[in-house]
Amino acid sequence: MSKSTAHERAPLEETVPADVLKSEVLAWARRIGVTPKEIHIRPMKRKWASCSSSGRLTFSTDLMRQPAEFRAEAIVHELLHLKVPNHGPLFRVLLRAYLAERKGD
Ligand SMILES: [Zn+2]
Repeated sequence: MSKSTAHERAPLEETVPADVLKSEVLAWARRIGVTPKEIHIRPMKRKWASCSSSGRLTFSTDLMRQPAEFRAEAIVHELLHLKVPNHGPLFRVLLRAYLAERKGD
């Protein structure tokens, strides 16, 4: 997921530890029903997160300073790529459905 200007937000003063970010990824993975091979958290210049064809997910440390809602968006986006490799209609429908579900609870 690219760091487009549309996604750029003022960083929060509060940050979540990498462990929390990772546990959020694992919780979402269970919910979506995917199993990432590896989850890495490291500084990334141009992206919030990326997904390799082998199922290895990498999340930017910058996400640790983003609001929970945006973290969820980035996490669900990347995990969904383990199911849908493109950004087609199915991808967008699933992304919206999972994020709407989150707001409902
Ligand atoms: Zn994507």
